[in-house]
Amino acid sequence: MAKDDVLECSFCGRKKPETNLLIAGLDAHICDRCIEQAHGIVMEEIAESSSSSLSQELILKKPREIKEFIDQYMIGQDEAKKVMSVAVYNHYKRLLQPPTKKNEEAIDIEKSNIIIVGETGTGKTLIARTIARMLNVPFCIVDATVLTEAGYVGEDVETILTRLLQAADYDVNKAERGIVFIDEIDKIARKGDNPSITRDVSGEGVQQALLKLLEGSVVNVPPKGGRKHPDQKFIEVNTKNILFIAGGAFSGIDKVIGKRLNRQAVGYGASIKEARIDETNMLQYIIPSDLKSFGLIPEIIGRLPVLTHMNPLDAETLRAILTEPKNSLVKQYKKLFKMDGIDFSINEGALEYIVEKAVEYKLGARGLRSLCEAILTDAMFEMPGTEENQLKVNKKYAENKINKSKLKRLKAVS
Ligand code: ADP
Repeated sequence: MAKDDVLECSFCGRKKPETNLLIAGLDAHICDRCIEQAHGIVMEEIAESSSSSLSQELILKKPREIKEFIDQYMIGQDEAKKVMSVAVYNHYKRLLQPPTKKNEEAIDIEKSNIIIVGETGTGKTLIARTIARMLNVPFCIVDATVLTEAGYVGEDVETILTRLLQAADYDVNKAERGIVFIDEIDKIARKGDNPSITRDVSGEGVQQALLKLLEGSVVNVPPKGGRKHPDQKFIEVNTKNILFIAGGAFSGIDKVIGKRLNRQAVGYGASIKEARIDETNMLQYIIPSDLKSFGLIPEIIGRLPVLTHMNPLDAETLRAILTEPKNSLVKQYKKLFKMDGIDFSINEGALEYIVEKAVEYKLGARGLRSLCEAILTDAMFEMPGTEENQLKVNKKYAENKINKSKLKRLKAVS
């Protein structure tokens, strides 16, 4: 009898001929079936411990704390911060709810996907990114403008989840608890009564396709995305617990809101007319039906039940954005210069000048960065490797650099 025949799995006792594979250890053997079983146990343990660590992490963070965390990175926008904190808190509470007990009434907490309306550069992406950072969950940003209905040139909506999978290093469990930020959702609004929409690769079709993702379903995701890899195996992703945050500028919606408010004022008589409308910030009055008038289909609006807005950024906010957030622009430049042994400082006059220009060029918060770059590029190019170890920027210095830069031309066109 060959010696091999007496070898057996030390775990289940199967003899070698009864197994497909028997792996030898130091003093023991293990068969393929036991390996598979052990693998299953390990995966279960990992899933359990990660969900309990998720619960620990989240139970510690109450809405107030979520807002405090966002406050470190973001100036103002209190209303949006509050609404988002509650929505995110409820969303994760929903994930952690224990299974319904026998005699308990089954109450299904619905998903709290969010839609943020606000001009470009007012912090829609920032707030979503900050929340994802705090929760330590995979996060991705997708642009709704590239999405098309299946069969058209462009990307299928499923590729949204490809990005999320990539952000989760292809860990499906992790991806299924992630956050997706869908930017420019307004660009897939149905064309029609809104003249500002110039593109319509069947906006309504894309909205229909998105519905499936938003409401929670099992979706076949191409792991490499696109249609360039037709032979790739799909990965099943359940979107039930993925939080979707949609954002858009919805330019022109202020008129829709205005019209509605006027109608209401007529309908209810003078008293509402007297409750003065702040025309500089119409978005604060937004309600879901305005999104419908803009061209989002009611089903999509229903799947994005939390609606909030971003206020336009005034000079005071822009000034604060330059220096106050935890990773403000000025702090970032300080660090960059410090790495070259250069002590960088900028005085109040220069900061106010930057804000003034950002307002004048209508560049919003995003413009602050371009302005800082225009002012500091020369120094960042010339100073490293020289003896100079100090850069003090004042208004005159800033003015000089801006006047020489391409940004100056912006003014000429606008
Ligand atoms: P949006 O998504 O609304 O177009 P972003 O979130 O991308 O705008 O913001 C653009 C830039 O402006 C980001 O770099 C962000 O850091 C900054 N920013 C915008 N709003 C704020 C704010 N309220 N506080 C701090 N930084 C802000």
